[in-house]
This record gives sequence, C-alpha cells and structure tokens, in this order.
Amino acid sequence: MSIVKYIFVTGGVASSLGKGIVSASLAKLLQSQDFRVTIQKFDPYINVDPGTLNPYEHGECFVTDDGAETDLDLGHYERFLNVKTSQANNVTTGRIYQTVIEKERRGDFLGKTVQVIPHITNEIKQRMQILGNTGDYDIIITEIGGTVGDIESLPYIESVRQIVYELGDNNSMVIHLTLVPFLSATGELKTKPTQHSVKTLMESGIKADVIVCRTENNLSSDLRDKIALFCNVRREAVIQSIDVETIYDVPLKMLEEGLNKVVIKKLNLKPNSEPNLEQWKSFLKKYKNPKKSIEVALVGKYVELRDSYKSILESLIHAGAYNEVEVKVKSVHSEHLEKEKSIDLLTGFDGIIVAPGFGERGIEGKIKAIAFAREKNIPFFGICLGMQMAVIEYARNVLNFKEANSTEINDKSKYPVIDLMEDQKRLTIKGGTMRLGSWDCKLEKGSMVRGIYKKEIISERHRHRFEFNDFYKNQILHGDLKSVGTNPETGLVEIIEKLNHPWFVGVQFHPEYKSTVSNPHPLFVSFIKASIEASTKTK
Ligand code: GLN
Repeated sequence: MSIVKYIFVTGGVASSLGKGIVSASLAKLLQSQDFRVTIQKFDPYINVDPGTLNPYEHGECFVTDDGAETDLDLGHYERFLNVKTSQANNVTTGRIYQTVIEKERRGDFLGKTVQVIPHITNEIKQRMQILGNTGDYDIIITEIGGTVGDIESLPYIESVRQIVYELGDNNSMVIHLTLVPFLSATGELKTKPTQHSVKTLMESGIKADVIVCRTENNLSSDLRDKIALFCNVRREAVIQSIDVETIYDVPLKMLEEGLNKVVIKKLNLKPNSEPNLEQWKSFLKKYKNPKKSIEVALVGKYVELRDSYKSILESLIHAGAYNEVEVKVKSVHSEHLEKEKSIDLLTGFDGIIVAPGFGERGIEGKIKAIAFAREKNIPFFGICLGMQMAVIEYARNVLNFKEANSTEINDKSKYPVIDLMEDQKRLTIKGGTMRLGSWDCKLEKGSMVRGIYKKEIISERHRHRFEFNDFYKNQILHGDLKSVGTNPETGLVEIIEKLNHPWFVGVQFHPEYKSTVSNPHPLFVSFIKASIEASTKTK
C-alpha cells in the first residue's frame, strides 16, 4: 500500500475566506487525476458537534449517512467530490476533550498529569490519521477551522506542527489561505496582513508550503514575487484565489493557477493522468447558459442567513443546471407571512419550498404558504418540518380537524397529527439524540415519487424528533393526500404526495444532503421540471 499523503489547510487574516471551497476544489483536481481523496474538518469550538447550534451561529448543520451532525463544509466536500463523508470527517474541540476526559476517568493515564501537550494534541493527531489508516484514501486534506492566532486554534496548530514533522517532508504539506485586501483609496492590493499571518504561523513552528491569496483583483507578477519572498515560499506556490461568479468555478481557477501541480510536486505524487474535468465543465456550461429562468420561493424562518439553507440552495443549483434553467430563489420569511394581506409575498412564484426547522416561530406562516400552493396548484416541496406542516394544513383546511397540530408546537393539541416518536419521549439529553442518518424507505407502486426515483427502496438522511402520528393514518391519508413512502421496518410515513395537483410532495427526510454536482437529486430535478411547466402555463 502506498503511503498516505496529508495536506493541512489553515486560514489567516479573516474568517470566511472559503477554506472549505479551496480544499474541496483541490480535492476535486486531485480526484480527477485518479487519486482517492477525502477532506476532514477540525473545528475549534467546544460544542461536541454543531447539532445543538442555532443555524444563525454557523449556518446549516449537515448530516452524514452514519448520522453525524456536522459542519456545513462537509456538504461542499460531498457535493464537489461525490464521495460520502462520515463522523470521522468532522471533529470539534468539544469531542476531543470529551474523549480525553473519558480516558482520564477510566484511568488510562493513571499517575500522569493530563495536559494539552501531549494528551490533547495526541488525541488530535490520532484523529487526523483515522481516515488515512483505513486504506481507502491516497490523500487526506485536513481543514483547520478558525484563523491562526486564535486562542482556540492553538492545539490544532501545534498538532499540525508535530504531525508534519513526524510524517516527513514528502508526505505532508501546509497550505495557508489568506486575504490580500484592496485599498480603494490608494488603488493598491496590500500584502502586509498576509505577511503577518504567515509570521504567526511561523512562530508556531509551521512553514506554509503554499499561500493561497483570496483577492478581489488580479495579483500582479511583482506582488506574487513579494509574497513569495516575504512568506518564504516558492514563486509558483503563491496561488491567487480571485472572487468568482460561483463556487463551482474555483476548481478551474485552481487548475489555471497550478495548485494541483505544486501539491503533486511537493508530495512526490505520481498521477496517472492530467486533470479531467469534462463532466464538471459541462455542468458549469449548463449552469451559466440557462435557456430560461424560473422563480422559486424558499419559505423559512432563518432566511436572513443564506447559509442556513445551504444544501437546499445548492441542490436547486444542481437541479437547475440539469434542467438548463436559472432557478432564482427568493427567501420568504415565514413570520412575515403571518401578517394580514401577506399572501402577496407568495404571488408570482413557479414553485414553493417550505424549509426544515425547529420550534414554533413562523409555523402559521408556513401553513399559510402550503395552503396557497395547494389551492393555486403551484408545485410544492415540503422538507422535514415542511412535510409535517403540509399534513397539518391538509388536516385543518381540507378535513376540518381545525386544531390539528404537531406536539412540538402544542403538546395539548386535540389532533396531534405530528407527534414525538416513541423512543424520543423518554429522552432528556438534546445533543445527538434525534433520528439521524440514513434510513431506508419503500416507495408505493404507481406513485409519482416511485417514477421519480425509478426504484422501490431508497435511502435518505434524517434529522428530526417528530413524525407523522400513525393513529391518524386512516383518517388523514385516505383521500387525495397519500402516504407513498414508508420505513420498511417501522411503517413510519416518510413521504406524502397529493393527487390532483401538478406536484405536491412532502418528505420527512432531507434529500438536499445527497444532491451533488455529478448526481443532482431526483426529487429536486423533478420539482424544478414541474416548476418550469407551471411557469410555461402562467407566463
Ligand atoms: N422540528 C421537526 C422535528 O424535530 C422538524 C425537524 C426538521 O425540519 N429538520 O421533527
């Protein structure tokens, strides 16, 4: 077996420079040269996982097949690479400390003082190599969350210093992503922040092998020379990452800059081929040359922060490109829909999505949006909470169960059509205890979704505590709202579909976690197709 190579990606100057996208783009290039690559992210916060975080804090929580609640960057890794990630791909400081403290309590370190160095750093290093030790990968890219110089990043930076030394020169490297700001007053790009952040890295004993410079303007040749000189890297290892129209342009930009070449040389890799990005380019071509455009409303309560619904937005991009349309997504705040005469906010859309969510805020607005889509025959896609609200809307407005509700919203509801799952009722701990990860679902013969997926058993990812209450199955799902997908073991209702409507589907799971550039999700593709048809009829 060949030696696994490790690439560490650190960030400097500012957060949100796009380390995740640069990492995913590099991985894409190396993957296109036949290397088996995965990316992992180490996050410096104390939460054991981001599952307990409000989306306003770090954006969407991404869920893997094995039920890990993870950072949204893992979504980018999967969407770029079309390779699944797992619990091992996302580690937080909280998880590291939890493990070390458990070991201490068990007596694993008896007699010793447990310290950041070596106990915490050893745990970090061991976790950094878990995926490498599986034999499934040639290259492991590790993204270190946060910015160098942050107090909370220090143990990770120290671990990188140690591991790079231990792995040796040709087996590991460090890529540092920085910002080269443009000062409009003087019309200049400034390298000083980059110099300082590289200096901070050096003070921690780490020498960057590549500097990726995030910039709004092209770096001149002189400026590249200057960065190379001051930051102690080879000239070709100064890589420009200029602002682009879409994140999906970044792999091609990195190819132009020769990032893969620098990496291949440094790690002494022997690629079988030149990068082959034909499929990627054909996706981009379709994405950038749409034949028409449609408008879709995304109804949710975290709409102020677009990262909250990252995977849904990306899935719409994949499905739009597949259908060769531009999908203009307009966020509609579910709370605003609760005001009188607010229905105007929903007019003119070719499709309506009601987003996942938790808690009671904005719930009635979501129900109003669903009633509108149902009555006006607008394609409707309800995801997780969106599906639950579709059941409630139908129970209330079509079947006259006026007080129908979810017990998440009203635990005294006369008609609790959505209720806590039995095994959830006994739980008192919130972290990591939802129904998580991939579960099978059996699709009904003759249903629209069966035609969309073109198979009987599908597997989709979940993240919820509440569920359709089976007690009401015969009363609610006997008319033109149907249960068309159920868990083969428990019989739980996972998908509903409405007859006599152009496209009305609610899913208890999150299809958005499985859409990738090379495999757009069939439900999103079909929803967009239906929205195109709706738009042709009305316009
Ligand atoms: N709050 C709902 C539940 O826990 C839906 C969750 C979601 O939309 N992800 O079941």
